Amino acid sequence: MFSGLRIFKEGLTGNTGWSPHWRDPAPKAEYDAVIIGGGGHGLSTAYYLAKNHRMTNIAVLEKGYIGSGNIGRNTTIIRANYYLPGNSEFYSHSLKLWEGLEQELNYNAMVSQRGVINLFHSDGQRDAFVRRGNAMRAQGDDAELLDPEGVRRYLPYLDFDNTRFPIYGGLLHARGGTARHDAVAWGYARGADRLGVDLIQNCEVTGIDIESGVVRGVQTARGPIKAKKVSIVTAGRSGQVAALAGLRLPIESHVLQAFVTEGLKPCIDHVVSFGMGHFYISQSDKGGLVFGGDLDFYASYAQRGNLPMAEHVMEAGMTLMPMIGKAKVLRSWGGIMDMTPDGSPIIDKTDTYGLFLDCGWCYGGFKAVPASGYALAHLMATGVPHETARGFRLDRFRDGHGLMDEEGTGAQHNLH
Ligand SMILES: Cc1cc2nc3c(=O)[nH]c(=O)nc-3n(C[C@H](O)[C@H](O)[C@H](O)COP(=O)(O)OP(=O)(O)OC[C@H]3O[C@@H](n4cnc5c(N)ncnc54)[C@H](O)[C@@H]3O)c2cc1C
Repeated sequence: MFSGLRIFKEGLTGNTGWSPHWRDPAPKAEYDAVIIGGGGHGLSTAYYLAKNHRMTNIAVLEKGYIGSGNIGRNTTIIRANYYLPGNSEFYSHSLKLWEGLEQELNYNAMVSQRGVINLFHSDGQRDAFVRRGNAMRAQGDDAELLDPEGVRRYLPYLDFDNTRFPIYGGLLHARGGTARHDAVAWGYARGADRLGVDLIQNCEVTGIDIESGVVRGVQTARGPIKAKKVSIVTAGRSGQVAALAGLRLPIESHVLQAFVTEGLKPCIDHVVSFGMGHFYISQSDKGGLVFGGDLDFYASYAQRGNLPMAEHVMEAGMTLMPMIGKAKVLRSWGGIMDMTPDGSPIIDKTDTYGLFLDCGWCYGGFKAVPASGYALAHLMATGVPHETARGFRLDRFRDGHGLMDEEGTGAQHNLH
């Protein structure tokens, strides 16, 4: 267990007294429920199944190691600044769970509510952000409209004077911020393990067994496992894994890149998002500037991107804050995004009894990790959607009712 005293003692004795955070069990022949995918969503689902619904005969099956997917690759931003009913209440719930997460898990997930500022650069954009801010406040979350002087007070390092796109103001979401992504995975993993969940790594699922419309279990690299309930929680690989159950999902997988510079003294206190180019940035606790932009714009399962998008992101950064031209980029990487046609996710049952889906998180699924696990666990245990996730139905893509197109960009996966 972590306590101030224990951390102090371990610090003095070379940190040699810690034991592994979770067990390494062999898979059992049968479970009440199996979760495919040991990313943030799979782990939080297992945790809330055990904690809220007392289901402990469950396993998370991960093809690589815990944290090897997008949960360890994202730019760590958490926020509840959605506009549309359906999304708004869900992300609001998630932010509230973030606010209590470290106490819940007794794990330092470095949740930092440093504030998210979305910049706008035209009258039309300002009107859209005013509407969004009102929707956030109506949901019970915080939003504050900043004029250019307000933005200058918080972000004096932006280029206000010679800029291609003048800064008209910003929408400040003070409770938004960042959290340490891998600590979130480790915290949920440890919490689930302590409640009796088996976390099974290096265990790729290669088949889903279905008889007469009922799920019976899975085939894995470590042998067959029977299960009464199975959830597919595999983010960028959702299309491939769902195909094992004969499902064709309305999802395209696209690569998204991110970048980090060498460590610098503290200079960027917030998460800042450019409204006229593909660029957003924050500073990690180690000092690196963490930034990214848009998708690479082609479908791919590669976990790395290409140079044209890297150049595009750097250009946008230089336009907004020329000072970052002095920083050296240390690393870049990519992750596979499960893009839906309306940019909103899916948490639903499938037509196969006992088979569930949690996917379509696009590039916003990190902030959703707590609420997604909470809602999927509720659905798996009770058979009824959680009140915050009723809109995330799969059949909206069949009949068009209930689409949640937050960006207003239409039915094109890579535009969301
Ligand atoms: C560069 C980048 C920046 C991002 N920035 C943000 C951000 O700032 N804020 C935000 O909210 N979101 C962000 N995201 C999105 C977010 O990271 C994802 O939406 C979210 O992590 C996806 O859910 P997950 O954690 O469960 O996915 P993952 O961690 O990818 O988990 C899925 C797991 O399933 C496993 N798997 C796949 N196939 C199988 C199989 N057959 N058998 C067993 N296991 C399998 C994979 O190995 C993987 O571990 C970003 C993503 C990227 C790549």
